[in-house]
Amino acid sequence: MYLTMDKKERSIIRIPELLAPAGTFDKLRTAIHYGADAVYLGGSGLSLRAKAGNFDRDGMARAVAYAHGHGVRVYVTVNVFAHNCDLAGLDDYLLELREIGVDGLIIADPGVLDRARKLVPELPIHLSTQANVTNAAAAAFWQEQGVVRLNLARELSLAEITEVRQAVTADLEIFVHGALCISYSGRCMLSNYMTGRDANKGHCAHPCRYSYTLTEEKRPGQYFPVEEDERGTYIFNSKDLCLLRRLPELIAAGVDSIKIEGRMKSLFYVGGVVRVYRAALDYLAGLPSADWEDPAAIRLPEKFMLELAATGTRGASENFFDEPPGPQNMLYGSSRAPVRVEPVAVVLSVTDCLLVEARNPLEIGDEIAYLDRSIEPQQVVVRGMVDEQGQEQVRANPGNRICLQTDPSVRGAAVHGMLRRTVGKN
Ligand code: SF4
Repeated sequence: MYLTMDKKERSIIRIPELLAPAGTFDKLRTAIHYGADAVYLGGSGLSLRAKAGNFDRDGMARAVAYAHGHGVRVYVTVNVFAHNCDLAGLDDYLLELREIGVDGLIIADPGVLDRARKLVPELPIHLSTQANVTNAAAAAFWQEQGVVRLNLARELSLAEITEVRQAVTADLEIFVHGALCISYSGRCMLSNYMTGRDANKGHCAHPCRYSYTLTEEKRPGQYFPVEEDERGTYIFNSKDLCLLRRLPELIAAGVDSIKIEGRMKSLFYVGGVVRVYRAALDYLAGLPSADWEDPAAIRLPEKFMLELAATGTRGASENFFDEPPGPQNMLYGSSRAPVRVEPVAVVLSVTDCLLVEARNPLEIGDEIAYLDRSIEPQQVVVRGMVDEQGQEQVRANPGNRICLQTDPSVRGAAVHGMLRRTVGKN
């Protein structure tokens, strides 16, 4: 989407693609429902996030058909750091992806890139964040290798992103939200050493989130607590990335795609985060062109951050955006931030009854909220529940399918819409 800044067309602002994780088919549908322009997912091999669910051949064909039917692009991660043994089957897999009709390959390894260029040259290649592009020369190098989109390292400032933008014509993709590594985006051996699970093959056990103690070499078995507070200290535990407030500057810098991390996160997380970023991009697209003369001065209404915080897991960090992160970007006292909301149901169909599947216990009188594409949740009260046999119920348990009656009625309810309940203080 393009916005012309003024009648002289002095400059052009372009709203970037919203790129969402799709660890499963359900999450893909949810991401699309809440407004993703593109999704990324993994096949059964050669993809980081080995436990993300991932798609076999038929599953991926179904996912691509569904996404394309909704005008949404699908990029497939082929971004392991491949060892020789990983290359067996690579050619067949690349040909399969072309046959399925995916819209791009996300690659980190130069060998995999070389095979893809030779075998399936018509498939656009996106450079994975695992390749750690941190400067304009590296960006230009990868562009010369045939890469059409660069996912820049998460360790860059806005000034550095802008410099890279000026150096290359390739699309730039930036992670704006989700978990951060204490190391350079996944280039970390902590999981390998501690659990034998290789982070660079998608098996990370996330030991950076563990709670640590101190031992002295002559006192084996004696553990000295390292305490930030009574719960201990999570010395490697970084807060989650959140660049929602900085979207205007990213847009003005000429970023082509903003990416949300989290193929292993829950359906409610994916839907909740995509919803907020979609609403934010739509809000920014509606601003008068004069506002874009000073993008850093554009402020999103605070309700956007409040909505996003409701889905949060480890607090919010802008990471390297202005300057290198410090202690304020770490979550030392716990592995996760307190949860303020919980999912209660997902809409299955909307006819004369609002058929939902409960995800947590639901009772008559509960105050819940329906999340549509706007930033304002619809607050309603549960007034009635009827099961699929037509029996009235006073309570639904997780997995139960019920016709839900609310006061007021949910406006504009749609399949894949989510309902939630507040459990903590705002
Ligand atoms: S252990 Fe933590 S820092 Fe290392 S790769 Fe896994 S998530 Fe990243």
